Amino acid sequence: MIVYLNGEYMEAENAKISPLDRGFIFGDGIYDVTPSYNGKMVGFQLHLNRMKNGLDAIGIPNPLTDGEWEEIASNLSEKNGGQNLGIYFQISRGNEGRRFHGFPHDLKPTIFGMVIKIDSYPKMPDRKNQIGLKVVSSEDMRWRQCNIKSTAILGNVLHFQESFALNKDETIMFNSTNELTEGSISNVFIVKNGIVATPILDHQLLPGISRHMAIESLRSDGSIEVQERVISMDEVREADEVWITNSSKHIAPVVELDEQPVGNGLVGPVWEKAMSIYCKAMFEF
Ligand code: PLP
Repeated sequence: MIVYLNGEYMEAENAKISPLDRGFIFGDGIYDVTPSYNGKMVGFQLHLNRMKNGLDAIGIPNPLTDGEWEEIASNLSEKNGGQNLGIYFQISRGNEGRRFHGFPHDLKPTIFGMVIKIDSYPKMPDRKNQIGLKVVSSEDMRWRQCNIKSTAILGNVLHFQESFALNKDETIMFNSTNELTEGSISNVFIVKNGIVATPILDHQLLPGISRHMAIESLRSDGSIEVQERVISMDEVREADEVWITNSSKHIAPVVELDEQPVGNGLVGPVWEKAMSIYCKAMFEF
């Protein structure tokens, strides 16, 4: 794999970062992943804006212009054979040559880019042939700024592992008052009586780009109502359908939660309709 590090492209094995980099020592950085299909990115400006918001939120100066970010993304795709890739960017606060918590002045951020193989972009959905995901749930033990896409995601890693260890696909989380937050690598939607709902954006969840695209494409189509509101875990367990969204899976149907079937245990009709609306709109974001 060809990666980008601080202005240069190289084989991943030749990319070297100091162990004193604050990204390594503290997880002091921001990242983002944009899906790219044969060099065509989905929602790139939205991903870039979220990344810039994250940098702002933790006081790292954005080291590049939008145009420069876009050029690196397109170079990474081309140098790695195009096709189906997640373009991964990570910016850490940099390396001051010592381990000290306080922010150093005028530090040069470390900029890293690589690609992640993802599935080919979703074709028109067919619920009969769609494999549904199996998920588990657990109480969200992460920090209170989950809206920031920080590289410090040990909480997410441990939550994801809860499902992975059981051969399941994802862990969805709830807060101390039994309200749905999000998945360890995704946002969560439920469907009840044809109405779609997802938790409101706050510090408990990442403002997912595919979440945004799903809500906006469904609202502009107008045939399916979408609510953003507080959702209890009881509602999740009683839902007709549950979906998770992220930039590599887009909208993925869930058929099992904590070993129990979701709805009738089959991929649902609202998912099929929503996914077809999403697929048509995807490249417009
Ligand atoms: N929530 C978390 C914790 C995530 O890690 C992700 C994606 O990686 C998402 C939500 C979905 O975000 P997006 O749709 O921008 O990929």
